[in-house]
Amino acid sequence: MVNVFYNPNIHPLDEYNRRYASFVKYLRTIQGEFVVPVGYNPLEYFSQIQDWENRCWWCYNLRLKKVALWGKENGFKYFSTTLTISPYQNVTQIWEAGKQIEQQVGIVFVDRDFRGGFPESQNLSKKENLYRQNYCGCILSKWEGVKRRIWKRLTGRKSF
Ligand code: SF4
Repeated sequence: MVNVFYNPNIHPLDEYNRRYASFVKYLRTIQGEFVVPVGYNPLEYFSQIQDWENRCWWCYNLRLKKVALWGKENGFKYFSTTLTISPYQNVTQIWEAGKQIEQQVGIVFVDRDFRGGFPESQNLSKKENLYRQNYCGCILSKWEGVKRRIWKRLTGRKSF
């Protein structure tokens, strides 16, 4: 198995570097193999989003397709994603995108649901002292996170 890091959605560059460093640190710990198919280019993310209401759909498509294409070019039969470990992601959309890409690229998408491992992943990241993100990745998710924290501080409530 090879772990592919492709996340042009992450904003800004500092955050990208923190998450990338954490990815590399963990994989070195477990002696996992990894690749980064291209360098950081946020334009790849912005040019992919065809409507902002559904930005996550386009974002999933972009990232999964890059991994599928890389896998196909390098002789792999299957691809998947760790995105489904997060209870904040739309797993149904991720699977739908993965299955469409499977047809387009000709490599099998493994639609695993990793959400049951989320608490363990949190414990592990604390134990290994890995960086833990507090927003999904794009500039809009960062802004939404800031708004939520301000709202909570002002009202003591979690949601608007
Ligand atoms: S919220 Fe997350 S999944 Fe959705 S577009 Fe932003 S970075 Fe991508």
